[in-house]
Amino acid sequence: MSDYLVRAMAGNAQIRAFAALSTETVEEARKRHGLSPVATAALGRLLTAGVMMGSMMKNPEDVLTLQIKCGGDIGGLCVTADSQGHVKGYVNNPTVMLPPKNGKLDVGGALGPGFIQVIKDMGLKEPYSGQTILTTGEIGDDLTYYFANSEQINSSVGLGVLLSKENHVQIAGGFIIQLMPFVAEETLVLLEENIRNISSVTEMLSENPTPEGLLKQVLKGLAVEITDTLSIGFHCNCSIEKIEKAIISVGRKEIEEMIAAGETVEVLCHFCNTAYHFTVEELEEILKKAQ
Ligand code: ZN
Repeated sequence: MSDYLVRAMAGNAQIRAFAALSTETVEEARKRHGLSPVATAALGRLLTAGVMMGSMMKNPEDVLTLQIKCGGDIGGLCVTADSQGHVKGYVNNPTVMLPPKNGKLDVGGALGPGFIQVIKDMGLKEPYSGQTILTTGEIGDDLTYYFANSEQINSSVGLGVLLSKENHVQIAGGFIIQLMPFVAEETLVLLEENIRNISSVTEMLSENPTPEGLLKQVLKGLAVEITDTLSIGFHCNCSIEKIEKAIISVGRKEIEEMIAAGETVEVLCHFCNTAYHFTVEELEEILKKAQ
């Protein structure tokens, strides 16, 4: 099944909900970046959250960035998403390895202490930016904390990535549940009980691999209305023109040095790991444009 997300309302519009199946998206990221198992789980969770949070924005040009700066061996993560289901991202140390913790990939250990920053560029003069500390480094918890403390929205964020024996992505997905300020006490009690009783995201998805299935369990006992379905995927909008501009921006002196070295230069896109090559002749053309 191809990846997609759903947007929903529940309990008479007291709850806004998002859920995603992101298996192929995360597998694509794993292959492109050569991610270790724990890096796959960490980036996979952040990509899944990013694509759902991106879909909360309105305009096609809006861009959401999730940036984690942390002290653990993974060295930091970055994800960007638009409102159309496109998401991309990378980790600073893709080969990070840690022993499992309680039989699970130790994402919290790989991240260590740090911060998560959310930047929303919605075409305004100043992009919106909010930042909170990492609480557990497991990413779902950290975003729940971020929503409550930075955006004052009581939320529950669940994210999961399960790997096969061959360390390929077997299943990935997640949900974000957000409470409206006027939520009734009995709805709150019901929801809290549901959250307490559900199994992990990957267990729920293994039983029923759909975003609708996730919401059915998390929002059990509430009337759920799916308002929208959006197909999602790993997508990078880099191009030879953008990389050229990036080379121009490093300055004439550096370009002259590259030319003097007399060799073809390789430039990698951080987000998708695509390699772009520039011959000495092409660099000379770029130098002309830099004048
Ligand atoms: Zn790219």
